[in-house]
Amino acid sequence: GLAGMPAADAKQTGKEFTSDQEVRWCPGCGDYAVLKAVQGFLPDLGLKRENIVFVSGIGCSSRFPYYLDTYGMHSIHGRAPAIATGLATSRSDLSVWVVTGDGDALSIGGNHLIHALRRNVNMTILLFNNRIYGLTKGQYSPTSEIGKVTKSTPMGSLDNPFNPISLALGAEASFVARTIDTDRNHLTGVLREAAAHRGTSLVEIYQNCPIFNDGAFDTIKDPATRDHAVIPLVHGQPITYGPDGEHGLVRNPATGTIEPVEISDANRDQVLVHDAHADDPTLAFA
Ligand code: SF4
Ligand code: MG
Repeated sequence: GLAGMPAADAKQTGKEFTSDQEVRWCPGCGDYAVLKAVQGFLPDLGLKRENIVFVSGIGCSSRFPYYLDTYGMHSIHGRAPAIATGLATSRSDLSVWVVTGDGDALSIGGNHLIHALRRNVNMTILLFNNRIYGLTKGQYSPTSEIGKVTKSTPMGSLDNPFNPISLALGAEASFVARTIDTDRNHLTGVLREAAAHRGTSLVEIYQNCPIFNDGAFDTIKDPATRDHAVIPLVHGQPITYGPDGEHGLVRNPATGTIEPVEISDANRDQVLVHDAHADDPTLAFA
């Protein structure tokens, strides 16, 4: 929620949210697209730049705060949700964002993440999921699939991956969504809903790592199947997921943006909202 945060004096553009720092991700990294989408969306918040803060942990995606002309903190491994919780609870005039990855959020920072979600303070957590440790050069992560061959699993990973969406719902997160780096409209729509939500929003972003895990999400790039694989889940107010009569999100075919609707037989097939606890193969990694 944005209530109580000071409005910008004038309309801003993405350029004003772009810092002078050289962006240092590998060529082709999915992080570039997410950065562009965030820089393009932030003016829509209508807030003063000095009232927006991005806190990151450690990892490739955690370089994010350098590239935004807002306040920011490149903090310590796995601890960004804890630092952001302190900031959000002491400064309700700030829009607080966390940028983290699958290793940072789900391994080293697993406890911080789940407790941030259950506390439900007002912040938005962007979880970049490339299903690999990128910064440390290609070890398997808590979201790597069974059998994944990496430098640290030369005979294939034996571990079941976390589904971050299920994990967040298990922690009773009040807003949970999933999107993908390659779909800017979808990503921007999810960012908008997440920022408007009062409480902790968890947004999982499928992100390609062309160096160590290229093509991990290629199977869901096809628009015909993508909407069923990239499922934004919204649990709680103002939008809830669930059975008949509850609310979900649909993609407006005219604008490409996602919008809330009341679920009915007429639109059930288009609703981008599912119960993560149901036996639904579309929730599994393709
Ligand atoms: Fe991006 Fe992978 Fe390079 Fe990290 S290692 S910057 S995630 S492409
Ligand atoms: Mg990762």
